[in-house]
Amino acid sequence: MQTLSKVENLFTVINETAELLSKDLQITYIEAVAETGENLFQNAILQEELSEVTIKSLQRKYDSLHIQSYDKESLRKGYQLAILKGLKDGAHPNHQMTPDTIGLFMGYLMNKFLTDNKQLSILDPAVGTGNLLTTILNYLSKETIESYGVDVDDLLIRHAYINANLQEHPINFYNQDSLERLLIDPVDAVVCDLPVGYYPNDVEAARYELKSDEGYSYSHHLFMEQSLNHTKEEGYLFFIVPNSLFETKEAPKLNEYLRSNAIIQAFVKLPASLFKDERHGKSILVLQKKGEHTVAPKQALLADLPKFSNKQAMNSMMKQMDDWFKENKK
Ligand code: SAM
Repeated sequence: MQTLSKVENLFTVINETAELLSKDLQITYIEAVAETGENLFQNAILQEELSEVTIKSLQRKYDSLHIQSYDKESLRKGYQLAILKGLKDGAHPNHQMTPDTIGLFMGYLMNKFLTDNKQLSILDPAVGTGNLLTTILNYLSKETIESYGVDVDDLLIRHAYINANLQEHPINFYNQDSLERLLIDPVDAVVCDLPVGYYPNDVEAARYELKSDEGYSYSHHLFMEQSLNHTKEEGYLFFIVPNSLFETKEAPKLNEYLRSNAIIQAFVKLPASLFKDERHGKSILVLQKKGEHTVAPKQALLADLPKFSNKQAMNSMMKQMDDWFKENKK
């Protein structure tokens, strides 16, 4: 209860100060959320062109907040509410932030698959607002985590950077097209809510085995190949993919590529209730990059998740998954 009111309190301050900044600087609300996020992190009002009245109102609101007393999850949630409000109008589905429930479930899977890794490096090549990556970082029980986030959208990655600063996560950010050359060493784990659709840059696509033979290539397929290129041998990849991933005309090529380079460890269908339109339903695909010691499970973990709010069905599902882990990940 206490956490909830803290989150609401933080959201109220971010929301009201963003509205003041948006009006005075004539910028959009979502840009103003980034400005106020910077102010909160730097503990200063950084904008030079503001009126005296706005400066005083901003200062009063910032002073009412004791940001040092906030834990990482409350900071993430409060900032996330303001971004959600800012993105509500007209955000393309490919630019929407990944909901907490999915991030928490990915965190659960990562803890289960990466039991041997005390230290961990993680890459999110479509980091967006950083919500998925920081939900996972707050959830994982690992000692040292080195993390990297890449996104082509400069406004979203600015939010990711501010979000990470507020939560004190030392993430390395790169504002670029992830399908161009990435200067990032292979990591232990990739997490990614894949952007789904066609990739318009044919010249860059030509470097990939998974490029389409005719017309534009699927960017989500190229993202999978690029992610495998940046994963250590035996490392894991956790992708949010369309349910229909293995049913399209490009699927045979994808299957063949995955058979040579990876092991499919799990395909878990997320509850349809999480998506506005069932046709856009998603699943979590877990891959392991092939290496000298990789062993395929007897059978991949295949599951169809019930609604997260259905506790009884969810408990029974978690029990079945735990049994699978006991059997396959000794
Ligand atoms: N997980 C993110 C979050 O929690 O905010 C949301 C990811 S969103 C579904 C997909 C992201 O992919 C968007 O932020 C979009 O800008 C990014 N994207 C699309 N094409 C890209 C590309 N070629 N290189 C890098 N990022 C790309």
